[in-house]
Amino acid sequence: MFSSIPKTSTFIILNNDFVVSDSIHRLWALLLQHCPVCLQGEVFTSLFGMHTHCPLCGVKYERETGYFLNAVFIGYAGGFLILAPTALILAWLNVSILVFSLAIILTTALMTPLLFRYARLIWMHIDQMLDPRSPPSSISHR
Ligand SMILES: [Zn+2]
Repeated sequence: MFSSIPKTSTFIILNNDFVVSDSIHRLWALLLQHCPVCLQGEVFTSLFGMHTHCPLCGVKYERETGYFLNAVFIGYAGGFLILAPTALILAWLNVSILVFSLAIILTTALMTPLLFRYARLIWMHIDQMLDPRSPPSSISHR
């Protein structure tokens, strides 16, 4: 009876270690802008250019037509989280409307590449966690 309890506890601890380790690898891959499937392949080719398929594992990034629509919502929310505090700080500083407008336009222009990239990456990694898929090639690079 008692011998089964430590085995179960060990399994749970090992299982939690695996989940934590997998999450850290995924978070790291997200920050480094890597493929959601193999967690190693580059996703972007230029500031706004994307590979259609992962250069390492070969998975197609755009699963279906309109796949990145959810990334637009993530980008919208991210833009709000950046611009709302900026606008509040500028209003608190009581700057002129010209300075306010220029600061908002400049912030938007500077944040657009990051928002575009991370909105797509966050969506692809969330989608991979919700509906996992394995690389199409027989060789796994994990
Ligand atoms: Zn990949």
